[in-house]
Amino acid sequence: MAILTTRPRGTNDFLPEQTPRWQYLERTLLSTAALYGFGEIRTPTFEHTELFQRGVGDTTDVVSKEMYTFTDKGGRSVTLRPEGTAGICRAAIENGLLGDALPLKVSYVFNCFRYEKAQRGRYRQFHQFGVECYGAAGPQADAEILSLAWEGLQTLGLRELQLSVNSIGCPACRAEYHRALRAYFEDRREELCETCRERLEKNPMRILDCKSPVCGQIAAGAPRVLDYLCGDCRAHFERVQSLLRAAKIPFTVDAGIVRGLDYYTRTVFEISVPGFPALCGGGRYGGLCRQLGGPDVEGIGFAMGLERLLMVMEQQNCEFPQPPQCDLYIASMGEAAAQEAFRLTTLLRREGYAVECDLMGRSVKAQMKYANKLGALYSMVLGEAELEQGAARLKQMATGEEKPVPLGEAFFTAFEQEMHNGWFAAAAEAAEGLTR
Ligand code: AMP
Repeated sequence: MAILTTRPRGTNDFLPEQTPRWQYLERTLLSTAALYGFGEIRTPTFEHTELFQRGVGDTTDVVSKEMYTFTDKGGRSVTLRPEGTAGICRAAIENGLLGDALPLKVSYVFNCFRYEKAQRGRYRQFHQFGVECYGAAGPQADAEILSLAWEGLQTLGLRELQLSVNSIGCPACRAEYHRALRAYFEDRREELCETCRERLEKNPMRILDCKSPVCGQIAAGAPRVLDYLCGDCRAHFERVQSLLRAAKIPFTVDAGIVRGLDYYTRTVFEISVPGFPALCGGGRYGGLCRQLGGPDVEGIGFAMGLERLLMVMEQQNCEFPQPPQCDLYIASMGEAAAQEAFRLTTLLRREGYAVECDLMGRSVKAQMKYANKLGALYSMVLGEAELEQGAARLKQMATGEEKPVPLGEAFFTAFEQEMHNGWFAAAAEAAEGLTR
């Protein structure tokens, strides 16, 4: 394998022709979050390994099998973040944000790293948009987070979205549930995968999330957590559901959703589109802040994978904004004209127009071919004659129509008028009138 020209497995290059779509996704999701009062936070790409072991839980697949962990030159173990919540919780504690007016509401878009078997929709470096809300323990916060996830995806124009919610209870009601699960899985211990046999001792709920098909089949018949909720957890979950109904956010209760990370309590949820792995997952976490040495405040949040979102949006033919186009290409012949082309190009860019001129020393014919390839709206050729006359011809590329324009200072006003509903637009309108 040509190591120098091959990217590491499970990573992607995002090329200039694709990035406008990424920027659109990020912009749309972050601004929807801003409408809900969430401000963007950015945390380091790597953290102390202990943060994830403690925060995410060392019985999870993410921590036990998938982390990118290495020892740095100072002999410390650091890990590329496999998810956002632990690092953000750390940052909130470290920067004293949990002592301020609560709730604290933050959003993020960044890359995450998991050493997974790379396949379509599953990468080793991927990107998540997510939010976290700290300090609000009541069901209202759950409903707000669910609403934000739902509306964010709606705003992108996705169809056939399915929101599934579940409650996995609090440590009190979960103790009894764990007992029931252990009893159930104990009977089929020999059939479970090796990791799940370990989980049976440490955290039997993780077995419900195992990716092995055999464990999955056994898990399908396991006791349901909803049957073990205590009174408070049950009331909380019912209130979340009634808030969702009030806001007309469609959902189903799915007792199979337990979420892969250790810190969740009560509400957990996923949003998916049939035929794809989950687009968005989230839930409430009770003990995380305290476990990391911070105040005892609850958090709730979600994360959605941008690669998967884009994949589904493209499959569903969702609309994307047009990428920015070249307003004007100034072709030139000879050194003096090239200098004038460069001068005009620079000044027009200062005015906010996307303008290009030749960098390759090509012939005018080749420059015009390139202008076509760029999809330039207008073009103009400068040569000795144009410089002498102080005038050139501005060409509308789509129609081939040309119009004389003065060079020098007067050019700017002429071009500006042209761009804002000028002569070509009027001519096109008139032509349309005639053919109607
Ligand atoms: P999780 O933290 O595992 O619930 O992941 C939240 C979201 O991130 C998922 O719903 C996916 O959209 C996305 N995601 C998780 N792992 C990957 C991965 N390896 N590749 C691409 N997207 C992922």
